[in-house]
Amino acid sequence: MMNEETIMGDKVLGNVCLDNKFLDPVEFKRQGYMIIDFLSDYYARVHEYPILSQVEPGYLARHLSSSAPREGEPLENLLEDVTKFIIPGLTHWQSPGFFGYFPSSLSAATVLGESLSAGFSVVSFNWQSAPAATELEHLVMDWLAQAMGLPEHFLFSGSGGGVILGSTCEAIVCTLVAVRDQVLAERGRISLEKLVVYCSDQTHCSLQKAARIVGINPNNVRVLRTTMETAMGLSPTLLRETIEADVDSGHIPLYLCATIGTTSTTAVDPVLPLCKIAKEYGIWVHVDAAYAGATLICPEYRGFSAGIEFANSFSFNAHKWFLCTPAGCCCLWVKDQEALTRSLSMEADYLRNAPSDSKRVIDYKDWQIPLSRRFNSLRVWLVLSSYGIEGLQNHIRNHVRLAKIFEGLVEEDERFKVVCPRYFALVCFRLLHPCLAKRANGHATENGQLVSNIRCAEIGHSFSNGHAGDKGHSVSHSHAGKSCYSTSNGHTAANSHAAADDIMTPYASKGGGGGEEINKLNQKLVQSINESGRVFLTHAMIEGNYILRFAVGTTTTKESDVRMAWEVVQENASRLLLK
Ligand code: PLP
Repeated sequence: MMNEETIMGDKVLGNVCLDNKFLDPVEFKRQGYMIIDFLSDYYARVHEYPILSQVEPGYLARHLSSSAPREGEPLENLLEDVTKFIIPGLTHWQSPGFFGYFPSSLSAATVLGESLSAGFSVVSFNWQSAPAATELEHLVMDWLAQAMGLPEHFLFSGSGGGVILGSTCEAIVCTLVAVRDQVLAERGRISLEKLVVYCSDQTHCSLQKAARIVGINPNNVRVLRTTMETAMGLSPTLLRETIEADVDSGHIPLYLCATIGTTSTTAVDPVLPLCKIAKEYGIWVHVDAAYAGATLICPEYRGFSAGIEFANSFSFNAHKWFLCTPAGCCCLWVKDQEALTRSLSMEADYLRNAPSDSKRVIDYKDWQIPLSRRFNSLRVWLVLSSYGIEGLQNHIRNHVRLAKIFEGLVEEDERFKVVCPRYFALVCFRLLHPCLAKRANGHATENGQLVSNIRCAEIGHSFSNGHAGDKGHSVSHSHAGKSCYSTSNGHTAANSHAAADDIMTPYASKGGGGGEEINKLNQKLVQSINESGRVFLTHAMIEGNYILRFAVGTTTTKESDVRMAWEVVQENASRLLLK
């Protein structure tokens, strides 16, 4: 006998089947066009909105009901709610005046690819569950590796291969787990406490989180100090000294995260000498190029990745500058795919099938943390195929060109100073103290080159092809490193850090400027620029100095927007300096 609940359940199910209201092809088409029209109008008007959202925390609860509606509403009404309540609560990342963080370069191909992938809604945990999704990922990861000039062994035809993960943090967790397990298998699980991870104080905080997740003792994360002497890149000498001290004290060096394009200033760690040292000690090197990896599509930037052939893994976020937004598209390559799959494979009877057993297919569930996965390769494929390598190169080069224009404008104004070498499309600058402006600028540039660049070039490291990027930079990292690192829980374990005088201190602490005073001035400047609603930028702290970051990367940004942004910066600076 059926009880009432079952009868009710059957009735509800019956209605749904009859109405097919969850996926009626005609209604889907009507609503789909409505969404595309809505977004297209949004893109056309995005420059009209104040970029930084003006809402107060908790604003949305005042507008939307505190419980889900009993009955559904038409999409027309819901889109009205989006216009009235959601759009005001957005910080408009796609506005042409958005220069904050690392922008998210949107493209029609990625939005449509994302829709296509959602439309198919396959769950491609193993080959059988969605052969096309797996094989397309395999293919585009090889395409990308070739287009970016990555070494052969990162390709599937070599010993390695690529996978699309959700984030750099995941890429680090997965590779860290792989080498952790390898070493523990050799040395015994008791050795976990002895494992040491190396990074610089400019490495993204994802590394520390990943290390925590995989059980590395927080005291064993060596955060090596960088200075402007090496343009905030990690010193190989300092790395060697630190490793040697660790070995002497019975620790086991495990993993190094080197960065091409750090988050604060896009500093570049010297991958080649770091890898050489790491190799001597059997350390796994992961290269995090979350932002700047996109530039490797242009051959002139490949000097920055010199030495990548000695790294064990490499990742970049295609969802940043590479037109494959939204987030969730981190491309990871490993040299040895078995190292990864040994640690990450998962078995269950219901997942068994003939193709997997044949070992002739890839089961991406064994390359990542979760089981389920999205059909992300579709949007990467659509982006690569729609725009081609040349289209992507033009996209990157155009943004670098715009950043260069902005850099030139900053350099022309003696009240400001560009504080770090610009390698890509990020300009780091700050307002000087009025009485120091002239002096500092006079000494900051020689023949258009920052003093720090020149110093770096003097001290040795040059990229393998003799130049890199649009400037022909030759950046040195071979200076005598000072023993200075801190552990992730904040202890300074050693000392003798040489402060970089040339770039920061002339107007930060020397000559009566007062570091805090200038920091506050620059902080106010960022605040007032962002309050203008026309421009949005963010800041970073470098050696105790508050600096402004101007990151070009939004696809809607044109030269006129960059020039407008500079005017907004100047206007606000003039107002602040008059106060
Ligand atoms: N690494 C670098 C150099 C970054 O700039 C960022 C974010 O901007 C990350 C890692 C974090 O990436 P994800 O959010 O994919 O973990």
